[in-house]
Amino acid sequence: MTKKRVLSGMQSSGKLHLGNYLGALENWVTMQEAYDCYYFVADWHALSSNYEETDGLKDNIVDLGVNWLSAGIDPEKSVMFIQSLVPQHAVLFLLLGMITPIPWLERVPSYKEKLENVTDRDMHTHGFLGYPVLQAADIVLYKADVVPVGIDQLPHLELTREIVRHFHNIYKTKVFVEPDAKMAEVKKLPGLDGRKMSKSYGNAIFLSDTPDERDKKTSLIVTDPARVRKTDKGDPEKCVAYAFHKVFNNAGRNAEIANDCRNANIGCVACKKELAKNIAEYMAPFDERRAKWAGRKNEVMDILRAGSDKARVVAAQTLAEAEAAMKIDLQKI
Ligand code: SF4
Repeated sequence: MTKKRVLSGMQSSGKLHLGNYLGALENWVTMQEAYDCYYFVADWHALSSNYEETDGLKDNIVDLGVNWLSAGIDPEKSVMFIQSLVPQHAVLFLLLGMITPIPWLERVPSYKEKLENVTDRDMHTHGFLGYPVLQAADIVLYKADVVPVGIDQLPHLELTREIVRHFHNIYKTKVFVEPDAKMAEVKKLPGLDGRKMSKSYGNAIFLSDTPDERDKKTSLIVTDPARVRKTDKGDPEKCVAYAFHKVFNNAGRNAEIANDCRNANIGCVACKKELAKNIAEYMAPFDERRAKWAGRKNEVMDILRAGSDKARVVAAQTLAEAEAAMKIDLQKI
């Protein structure tokens, strides 16, 4: 039986953090056993909001590759590639843009939200508005059956499905696959201050942090503010460190910690030291592989280039079918 195809990407807009690892990368690694996986570096997407800050873009691409390989993405099982090395993404983006009504794009929740919240740069660009069309092109070029998504990305995927149906209605030929969403069961990790973990909030533990840096950040995790002194009784549900324990510790030990916290039998310093030890143990295999891959950047780029060669073959085939359906395939004149 042929495996269903999965397509997923990550923007090369900055360093990956522990939240990305638990929220996406671990899931990618698991999926590569059951699916035919295409994972791409979304470097054009990174430009949609960071079009002025391009200095670190190339380093970020390599760093994504390093992190993927360190997490256990296997280039023998999955195709790892770079979006901009497959120009068919741009061509299909243009063609799908011809048929996508602007109101469909303006009503995407993340578009409105970012326009309101990002104030340090002008987001009223064609690229940013058209971002979901590029995303649709990314997915349908590979005829992906399944796209792993978080709840906030569901409207984007629905838009892709709408664009696919619209294309098929207009050109009366079924070229693409309407992708299904796969809501992954992932571990949710807050940032050090309890907000969403994000590099822009300064509350992230990065995958490139050394074990010492990670320990230091762990010691800064916000705890229950009611525990000013060690003798003050606490509420673990009001403590960010306890949310981390839920991810990195077993349920039995967490019940003991919660009980000790409520009865002031444990201090926050000791509690977070135990957490740091557990994080270190959890991440040890990753750290070991990252130490190896971080020093082999040329090899990482070779893997991404070879993956892009493979992806280009699939993308070119789908694009040719789309152009034929649209009767714009000039080879046939
Ligand atoms: S003892 Fe542990 S769970 Fe309780 S507030 Fe301190 S760090 Fe949080």
